[in-house]
Amino acid sequence: MFNKILIANRGEIACRVIKTARRMGIRTVAVYSEADANARHVRLADEAVLLGPAAARESYLVADRIIDACKRTGAQAVHPGYGFLSENADFADALAASGIAFIGPPASAIRAMGSKSEAKKLMGTANVPLTPGYHGDDQRPTLLHDEAEKIGYPVLIKAAAGGGGKGMRLVEKSEDFPDALASCKREAISSFGDDHVLIEKYITKPRHIEIQVFADTLGNCVYLFERDCSVQRRHQKVLEEAPAPGMTEARRREMGEAAVAAAKAVGYVGAGTVEFIANQDGSFYFMEMNTRLQVEHPVTEMITGQDLVEWQLRVACGQPLPLAQNQLQIRGHALEARIYAEDANKGFLPATGKLVRLVPPAESINVRVDTGVEEGDEITPFYDPMIAKLIVWDETRDGALARMRKALADYRVAGLTTNIDFLSRLVACPAFAGADLDTGLIERQKDFLFPAAQPTPRDALLVATVGELLWEQHAARQVAKNSGDPWSPWHARDGWRMNLSAARTISFRTAQDSDGDTLIDAVIRYQGDQWQITLAGTTTLARGRKLDDDRFAVELDDRRLIASVVAVDDKRTVFLQGSTYSLLRDDPLHRVDAGDSHGGGLTAPMPGKIVALLAQPGQKVEKGTPLLILEAMKMEHTITAPATGTVKAFCYAPGEQVADGAALVEFEGDA
Ligand code: ADP
Repeated sequence: MFNKILIANRGEIACRVIKTARRMGIRTVAVYSEADANARHVRLADEAVLLGPAAARESYLVADRIIDACKRTGAQAVHPGYGFLSENADFADALAASGIAFIGPPASAIRAMGSKSEAKKLMGTANVPLTPGYHGDDQRPTLLHDEAEKIGYPVLIKAAAGGGGKGMRLVEKSEDFPDALASCKREAISSFGDDHVLIEKYITKPRHIEIQVFADTLGNCVYLFERDCSVQRRHQKVLEEAPAPGMTEARRREMGEAAVAAAKAVGYVGAGTVEFIANQDGSFYFMEMNTRLQVEHPVTEMITGQDLVEWQLRVACGQPLPLAQNQLQIRGHALEARIYAEDANKGFLPATGKLVRLVPPAESINVRVDTGVEEGDEITPFYDPMIAKLIVWDETRDGALARMRKALADYRVAGLTTNIDFLSRLVACPAFAGADLDTGLIERQKDFLFPAAQPTPRDALLVATVGELLWEQHAARQVAKNSGDPWSPWHARDGWRMNLSAARTISFRTAQDSDGDTLIDAVIRYQGDQWQITLAGTTTLARGRKLDDDRFAVELDDRRLIASVVAVDDKRTVFLQGSTYSLLRDDPLHRVDAGDSHGGGLTAPMPGKIVALLAQPGQKVEKGTPLLILEAMKMEHTITAPATGTVKAFCYAPGEQVADGAALVEFEGDA
């Protein structure tokens, strides 16, 4: 076995690999960018080497620096994780040339599967079933358009070099084809440096079912069953599970054997995933093979009881697979939810910022949290905004669902927007709970998943008010303790005022919706160690006690609850009974006239690059007309007209970088 390995990655997957290496007595070397100098993976590793500036292209993607880091630290092998250099055949070759082992497949297998079109050609000859479509070399737009007509709409245009759900465009009708092709090619060039595309029949109501395969250098190859990753948004996985609901033994064997055939056809070694798209009738087609460990590998680990990173390490040093096919079994059911810093209600817009509060649910044999961040860390715009993977296991799918609901309810994150509430609704959604799965689930259930903004519940407002009062009380006690006269009446926080009635107001704004937030006043009257809080004309008798900085035991009339409020500047995040509410503490002294009615929309929502301008200066546009495309965090965001009006000027040209909050367009709304 290796003595020391280097992990050419960051975040949760680097931490995940370090965990197994450490258990096996292998020393670990982390690599990092300037933005990750204090990252968790750096803190966990035995040694760490700085690669360069924040941009991945100047750090995590620089093969030479990683090889140099191996030489300097004496690392004998490199685990590439997923993403970055994990499917880069030249990197695998360069490591081999330096006598360093690559914990992954041979470069030839990566190359064979690297292009979706080449892989399809190869799989066709290995008798693996293929999605009907065009995967030829002739890339003339007119020819591609003709092929799409032949296949019949709807079709999917895919970047041959694509991955991670990027570089795909669904086309429903012929007249949309040219624009979709142009936009797909643009994204393919900027994300993968290659604008080769293929066209596939778009399967309606499909399921994404993938098979985990493993091969060793001695010619053994097994499958570790399937994962169902049908719950997706924009072709990116959101929830994954194993086994796939409704899978029969016969179908499992058929798919498993097809996956093993696919792996054998390319001389595969190590961990790989063969992705299939399955029709509702159970027929399935090869989509692609991912020649690395997948993000969602933990659900397979939970149902098989195997550590796939350990398998990878053993195979990479020439050992046989730990188990044969007939020794592998499925036990129970596992679900994984990807916890992201993103705003589900704003088209899953990635969020950045500091994790002011980060309290994951307690881990156990049923609950596992794979993460690369801790409280106080930042989610930066440079990399994927994943906070953690939450994995649960139980004997049955229903049991696992209950575990997931509870674990999500226990997750507390404050400081930035997360998808936790969205995930909670997703697992509660009857279609998901009832395993009525297909890749359109999120879109179809959008009324349930994206409910119209609800007024903040009264309990949450009461808890927020009690939080303010308890913090004031606590601060006053600290001041009193530190003063020369601790018993002075001036330190009291019982609301007593000379010549004034003991009522005061604390105001909040609901921060959920940017347009038209509501101002809420809580009127407080002090009554001994209790408060009478009047909200919207109804009075509640409240008292509370601080449990720690931001957790409170609160009594509201005859009910008791535990809640948490996290304050960051004027922002308040209330965690109450598994839901999260965002408020702003309103300071009347700083209140400004709400006049910027179309503010926000025309500024950059995050740092990025202008990809295209879609209107002319001077052009009259309707509300909602696309004005420009901004590429940020590897995704294209369309900025639209906030109202009917005139585009006066664009502030940047295509190709230019813009800072977070930069004004992008001068726009004049019609009066
Ligand atoms: P990537 O490499 O970007 O992950 P894939 O080829 O694996 O791309 O496809 C990602 C997702 O896109 C699939 O899980 C599925 O939801 C959807 N998809 C891909 N091909 C098709 C198709 N032919 N018909 C319908 N949906 C598809």
